[in-house]
Amino acid sequence: EREGRSHEEIVRMRRELLLPNLSISYEKPIKFVRGEGVWLIDDGGRAYLDCFNNVCHIGHAHPAVVEAMAKQAGTLNTNTRYLHDNIVAYAERLTATLPKELTVAGFVNSGSEANSLALRMMRAHTGRENAITLDWSYHGTTQELIDISPYKFRRKGGKGPKPHVHVATVPDSYRAPADWPLEEHGRRFAESVAELISAMQAKGEGPGFFIAESIPSVAGQVFLPEGYLREVYRLVREAGGVCIADEVQVGFGRVGSHWWAFETQGVVPDIVTMGKPIGDGHPMAAVVTTREVTESFNNGMEYFNTFGGNPVSCAIGLAVLDVIESQDLRGNALAMGNYLMDAFRDMQKRHEVIGDVRGLGLFLGIELVTDRKSKAPATEFARAVSNGARRRGVLMGTEGPHDNVLKMRPPMIFSKRDADHLIAVLEDTFADVARTLG
Ligand code: PMP
Repeated sequence: EREGRSHEEIVRMRRELLLPNLSISYEKPIKFVRGEGVWLIDDGGRAYLDCFNNVCHIGHAHPAVVEAMAKQAGTLNTNTRYLHDNIVAYAERLTATLPKELTVAGFVNSGSEANSLALRMMRAHTGRENAITLDWSYHGTTQELIDISPYKFRRKGGKGPKPHVHVATVPDSYRAPADWPLEEHGRRFAESVAELISAMQAKGEGPGFFIAESIPSVAGQVFLPEGYLREVYRLVREAGGVCIADEVQVGFGRVGSHWWAFETQGVVPDIVTMGKPIGDGHPMAAVVTTREVTESFNNGMEYFNTFGGNPVSCAIGLAVLDVIESQDLRGNALAMGNYLMDAFRDMQKRHEVIGDVRGLGLFLGIELVTDRKSKAPATEFARAVSNGARRRGVLMGTEGPHDNVLKMRPPMIFSKRDADHLIAVLEDTFADVARTLG
């Protein structure tokens, strides 16, 4: 006996009641009724290994999060114009995970709101509008963020770049020109940013800001070549702009080796935005910046956010940090990521369709190609693997301009057993899809 409304009825009601431009995952939709740790359980009682969600950072329905939330919600929730311990405790703990220059936090409710606040700070600090953004990036859902998200404005329904928006090449080493020596990728790709700045300067203008995910995810789990951000940040700052790191997907220790993925590039951004994993599913987000930027932003206009930084959200944020630290989940992410990468590299030897494997910690991608030489995207194969894994009870996604990169972001509590399960399902699915597609 299945729980609640039938799938058909929910699909029909969604069609009538919800915005029609909201898609549903998978050819055959899933109805989940419960989550626990790395598992999502559907209305038929079947458990799926969640290797995709990103938000359930320390696992679905984590008891420490549920307890912190219930306890604080049963005591007090109110806005941040009253004094409360949680917001200052959380700001102190959060900023302690960041480089020493990044000392001031602003609390909001979604990744989009964090990026919007970052843009307001940037404007106050530089007095400029000009944006440099990476191709195929996504930074949020408000109009001003759609405007700096080529993933949206370059595709169906989009209206192309506005005059203040300048799009830099995705620094994708796998698809770099063949005659570029590997050690020069960072500098060569940064030339695209240098050219945009020169064009602005030729018109007597300059960049307001550069924004990038520290590991461009929507572009296909692209790992920035060594030295890339160091060179880009230098160019942007020299020209009077600020550097924003979007850590909405990749932050909070997911990469394992560091708390924040920008640290792997040896840079310190002026503004960092964070969201998704911050509350293990609870809608909260944050901006952390320097004292200097904060002083410019403090121009007489109050910044107040009704829900941002409320006692319940901050209690949850604290619980998430507690669990990451006390259980060394960063260490686990790094170990499990290395284990999975070894297995993926091994699979690459056996499956011709695997063109490239990329990952650090629990942020992973497998790029599929129909031909390793031409690197022609194997889009149909990738979709078939994602659907095949779902039939075998494992959730992942596809990503990238050609939708040919398998995307995995499992919870930080992912165990060796979970990893072996994922590897076995991928092996089986690859072999099956290769047979079916020929
Ligand atoms: N930045 C990045 C990199 C994202 O992936 C997203 C969400 N997919 C956002 C910003 C916006 O976050 P939200 O959906 O919480 O507004």
